[in-house]
Amino acid sequence: MNIYEHLQVNEIINCSGKMTPYGSSILEKDVAESMKQASAAYVKMDDLMDKAGEVIAEICQGEAACVCAGASAGIILSVAAIITKGDPYLVEKVPFVETNKKDIIISCGHLVHFGATIHQMIQLGGGRVKEVGTVCKTVEYHYENAIDENTAAILYVKSHHASQTGQLPLAEVVNIAHKHHLPVILDAAAEEDLKTYLSCGCDLVVYSGAKAIGGPTSGFVVGKKNLIQACRKQYGGVARPMKVGKENIAGLIKAIENYNTKSYDYQPKLDYMLQEFNKINGINASLIKDSVRDIYRVKLTLDPIKTNMDAHELDQKLKNGYPVIFTRKYDVSNLNLVFDPRPMRDGDEIIVCKRVKEIIEGI
Ligand SMILES: *Cc1c(COP(=O)(O)O)cnc(C)c1O
Repeated sequence: MNIYEHLQVNEIINCSGKMTPYGSSILEKDVAESMKQASAAYVKMDDLMDKAGEVIAEICQGEAACVCAGASAGIILSVAAIITKGDPYLVEKVPFVETNKKDIIISCGHLVHFGATIHQMIQLGGGRVKEVGTVCKTVEYHYENAIDENTAAILYVKSHHASQTGQLPLAEVVNIAHKHHLPVILDAAAEEDLKTYLSCGCDLVVYSGAKAIGGPTSGFVVGKKNLIQACRKQYGGVARPMKVGKENIAGLIKAIENYNTKSYDYQPKLDYMLQEFNKINGINASLIKDSVRDIYRVKLTLDPIKTNMDAHELDQKLKNGYPVIFTRKYDVSNLNLVFDPRPMRDGDEIIVCKRVKEIIEGI
């Protein structure tokens, strides 16, 4: 009996994305195998953390890297690293550090909720949130006027969750920060490019290990060596309840090595869905690109007269049927439903097309 059957917890088909509420990522066999091997022996955790940092830093072409529990933990570590500079006395004080130099400047357009708020992560790291600009316009003078003797860093968010309107490009924010000798933290949790942002001059870049990289629940911070050392020091403080086990560190290393060397071809799944969905009367399927990233998905447009239902109803029926199918919920409108091929397992596309056909044809 499979573990989910044993627990009587339903498996789902995920056409939504690499989403935390749906289990983030399915692990490749060799990633799961590394975790199994890691679970079978004792190891000096410091050595494993050092090695993970080396491998990740090399792949991302950064000076150093530090593994953490997820991108949200990475934000906490980064903020705490900058405020404490790794001083052991201050490390034990986070998040209540006795210093005024703890303002973290962030554009209003970057105040995201990714399942929890970014404010809370900044505060857990000992930072004080200093919002600048607006959701539709944040320009140079907003940042410049916010910088004073209490500024610790600027936090920038590269994400489809963030406002894409009128935000100052990352490179310009880096310029402003460096002119004032301030570090820039970049939240790149779900981004696919592991090198660009460091080469752009960011001091610390935070990634989730379970999103684009497809690893187990984990994350990492990569960047300047002294700041990464200060991130590591937080394991003697605020990061203790966010520690990462040897199994997840091993899995993350394997996943990022795979990510760096393999290429993933989602085209066959996209082609299959386009072809099969378009055979259904009243449905038009087309390819769409993500608003920000280089990701392609299938968009279904329903003709409500021919199908006698709208996209919300089809979405509900997929969710409440068997097997349970989750589509990309951000993108559900009255007429459209979106399917993301990246989290789908081989064969899921066949089941999904069959279920949509059954529902629309009322079988
Ligand atoms: C998902 C996400 C996070 C949190 O990542 P975890 O790895 O789940 O902790 C932080 N920031 C952004 C922009 C995200 O998309």
